[in-house]
Amino acid sequence: MKKFLPLSALLFLGASTLLAQESKDDVLKDLDAKTKKYGEIAHNIWDFAEMGYLEEQSSGLLQKTLADAGFTVKKGIAGIPTAFVAEYGSGYPVIAILGEFDALPGLSQQAVPEKVSAGKAAGHACGHHLFGTASTAAAISVKDWLKSNKIQGTIRFYGCPAEEGGSGKVYMVREGVFNDVDIALHWHPGAANAASAGAALANKSAKFRFHGVSAHAAGAPDKGRSALDGVEAMDMMVNMMREHIPQDTRIHYVITNGGKAPNVVPDFAEVYYYARHFSREVVTDIFDRIVKAAEGAALGTGTTMEYEMIGGTHELLPNLTVQKIMYDNLTKVGGVTYTEEEKAFGEKISKTLGKETLDLATAENIQPYKESAQAYGSTDVGDVSFTVPTAGLGAATWVPGTPAHSWQAVAAGGMSIGTKGMMVAAKTIALTAIDIFQNPDTVKAAKAELEERRGKDFKYVPMLGNRPPALDYRK
Ligand SMILES: [Zn+2]
Repeated sequence: MKKFLPLSALLFLGASTLLAQESKDDVLKDLDAKTKKYGEIAHNIWDFAEMGYLEEQSSGLLQKTLADAGFTVKKGIAGIPTAFVAEYGSGYPVIAILGEFDALPGLSQQAVPEKVSAGKAAGHACGHHLFGTASTAAAISVKDWLKSNKIQGTIRFYGCPAEEGGSGKVYMVREGVFNDVDIALHWHPGAANAASAGAALANKSAKFRFHGVSAHAAGAPDKGRSALDGVEAMDMMVNMMREHIPQDTRIHYVITNGGKAPNVVPDFAEVYYYARHFSREVVTDIFDRIVKAAEGAALGTGTTMEYEMIGGTHELLPNLTVQKIMYDNLTKVGGVTYTEEEKAFGEKISKTLGKETLDLATAENIQPYKESAQAYGSTDVGDVSFTVPTAGLGAATWVPGTPAHSWQAVAAGGMSIGTKGMMVAAKTIALTAIDIFQNPDTVKAAKAELEERRGKDFKYVPMLGNRPPALDYRK
């Protein structure tokens, strides 16, 4: 139940909220004051642990938070029910803050420093519950700042589903929903605080499906043709191919269906592949060779094969014009300080990572700025970065040394260490957006840099082609 306050109290509260947002320091104080609120939102999404394109509650909670704060929300973007854009303000410049909220299959974990499943189908092992929430917090505080200072411009939050393999942002880029954006800001949970120029591998993924003939595996094996043989022959050839592909290529697969019982020759089998490299041309070439291996495997095993493109992302294009502003603001915000309880949690996690001591300095400090970086992951932010000048940061939401996609990442992300790191990101992004609103010339310089980096003849071609969103890829 709501308590009713006297009118004078409401006026006073209204006035103080407005005053509280006039300077950058006020914005920081305001975000500090809302740490508990945003921590609860993040924890709810952590608890929902919804996988790509199934994030109805997670997306809904962020939509509601933004709508309650005065944003206009449009959902169901680009044919994706959980994709949305929330907007406040009008006119130039248009600054987009990206947010994600999907969990990873099979990584359910409680918020404790030992491996204990929470009994769910998925877990937030990439911290996207923090990603979505901190970006929402940043967007709302920028909105408050625009309003108090009566500054013109548009702040948008992009609710981006299915980053983990679903390439949600690619469909949004393809649909053109970033076309009128001037700058895009993003971040990612991690084990350190850094705002160097980002890098990521371009990526192409597909599910290869083999069809054979069922028969009794002992009584009539000659009547059968094993779809699993097709998968195994394909995997064999792709594994041999590893010797003859460029360095820094990554190829990985999981057999998602290998038949049901040894005494039945499987008439269906499926293998899910990723191919990655820093250059999308190399990825395309390798992917085409993987398809050839699949065709050869089908031919040799007397099966048939078809494949479905699942995801495809560009590499990440840095924009140093915006990146430097992000770094300066991260330095101003600073890192994370652990309480005694958090130290005890961190020490236990460190031991599970094979480390004798907890590396507190990494959580507390900011990594030195680098103009180039190599990082062996992929992100659909890549496609945004070829469309709009884009900059990002990483914040220490996990115990130092924790790899992404681990139970240790889920554990720290579900407690106060995750919330603290998330607020570093919220603050840094808010201050960076404010800097850009105050110096719109930055937009011109950033756009000139984008033009130069992607080249005159650049034309955006989505790696996943013209397929509709793979809404069922986690089902
Ligand atoms: Zn991620």
